[in-house]
Amino acid sequence: VRVTPLGGCGEFGLHSTLIEGAAGALCVDAGLQFPDELHPGVDFWVPDFGLLAHARVQGYLLTHGHDDHVGALAWALTQAPAPVWGTPLTLELARGRLEEHGHRHADLRPLDPNARLVVAGFEITPVPVFHSVPGAVGFVIAHGDARVYVTGDHKGLAVPPPENIDLMLADSTGALRETPPGTEEAVARALESAIAGAPPDARIVIATFASNVERIARLMATCGRLSRTAGLLGRSLVETADAARRLGLLSPPPGVWVPAGRAQVVVVTGGQGEPAAVLARLAAGEHSELALRPGDRVLLSGRPIPGNERAVARVCDALARRGVAISDDPALHASGHGSRVEIADLIASVTPHHLIPVHAGARHLRAHVELALAAGARGAEMARNGDRFRVERARVERDGYVEVKVHAIENGRIVPQSILEARQAAARAGVLSVAGEQIATRGIAGVDPEELGEAVRKHGAQGGMRLVRKRTGRRPLVIDHTNHSDD
Ligand SMILES: [Zn+2]
Ligand SMILES: [Zn+2]
Repeated sequence: VRVTPLGGCGEFGLHSTLIEGAAGALCVDAGLQFPDELHPGVDFWVPDFGLLAHARVQGYLLTHGHDDHVGALAWALTQAPAPVWGTPLTLELARGRLEEHGHRHADLRPLDPNARLVVAGFEITPVPVFHSVPGAVGFVIAHGDARVYVTGDHKGLAVPPPENIDLMLADSTGALRETPPGTEEAVARALESAIAGAPPDARIVIATFASNVERIARLMATCGRLSRTAGLLGRSLVETADAARRLGLLSPPPGVWVPAGRAQVVVVTGGQGEPAAVLARLAAGEHSELALRPGDRVLLSGRPIPGNERAVARVCDALARRGVAISDDPALHASGHGSRVEIADLIASVTPHHLIPVHAGARHLRAHVELALAAGARGAEMARNGDRFRVERARVERDGYVEVKVHAIENGRIVPQSILEARQAAARAGVLSVAGEQIATRGIAGVDPEELGEAVRKHGAQGGMRLVRKRTGRRPLVIDHTNHSDD
């Protein structure tokens, strides 16, 4: 068996692993990565799945329905069409993403988390786990006498740990965290006391992750007990809740669930500060269905993902200006990922021959390697995306490397790197446009126009660019109509 991580070794997102056997290959997850502030316009990133096309992929296995695991499936299926297995809610969430990305005819096959599956000579055993979305599983994937265990995201197993594992690919999200992840029961109690303690005429807005069905189900039950009405605002929340209701995972007490505009408790998207999501629009007073008034309360039931802190702070400041009280009490949230104690416990109970940490940045991966060796794994090492490993019974060896690029996606299409670079050049240093002796600039400061004209007359657009660089220390985006090289 050959195992190649395609994403997630060095970042949170892009999670995907290729597992190749004699009669074809499997791909576990196909996730996206959300953009950062450095790349304006980019909707998200996906791994380059070119490798899948050559690997004779016979099936996709989805661990759970989060976007960092299913959001890039449309691009994977385009490279290598094959059936997709996942538990029912996972498939519903994946189906929503596929349709959004224009992929309507995927072969989605419900997975029974308690049954084995045989695909392309692999014997696949789902390993149900606790995570922040229902129906999450890991997989033991056996081929010949080699056994690979992909834990998936988790904060503990819902079944006994698998045995005789040669290679374990394990979630590293909590590898630097000492504090326990917390439980949904405790979050439900904290939300209940926050709601019960608020004045009856104050509206309570709770920002949380759309996929956390258990939290929403418990909240609906709480509202039933406290005789409050509850509503949901935000497309992904409403879609997930509808799917969960169809699958019997969400059954609110009668009379509790009402349209958001007249609900006393409103669950919303946007707790990560996303500018287009509901919380930011409420903060800006720009939501058509709901307007917050002074005295209303916002409860942040979810910690900012690293990198989102500033966006969240901006939204909170805007809410505060409207007279809204905000609580980000840590008790209002539980993580879906185990901390160091849970990570070490799982390694100790599985005692894999070899462990490769995945699903985090390099610091987490390194800490996880140390944890693994201390907890009883016989071997453990860091991998990069594209590192290939040959797995046999009680033996794991490196087997080369293949570069795995990432693609920026915008409006459903891959954006070439040259466009991203042009955008960054324009943002940093402005634009210089040259057509013969006609010069136009946008956003260039500190350069004398006459001197610039002189430089262009003598040395063309490149001369102009060199002058801007000399005067400003920055390299502008150059559009040279003279040479028709305006890409
Ligand atoms: Zn997850
Ligand atoms: Zn994840």
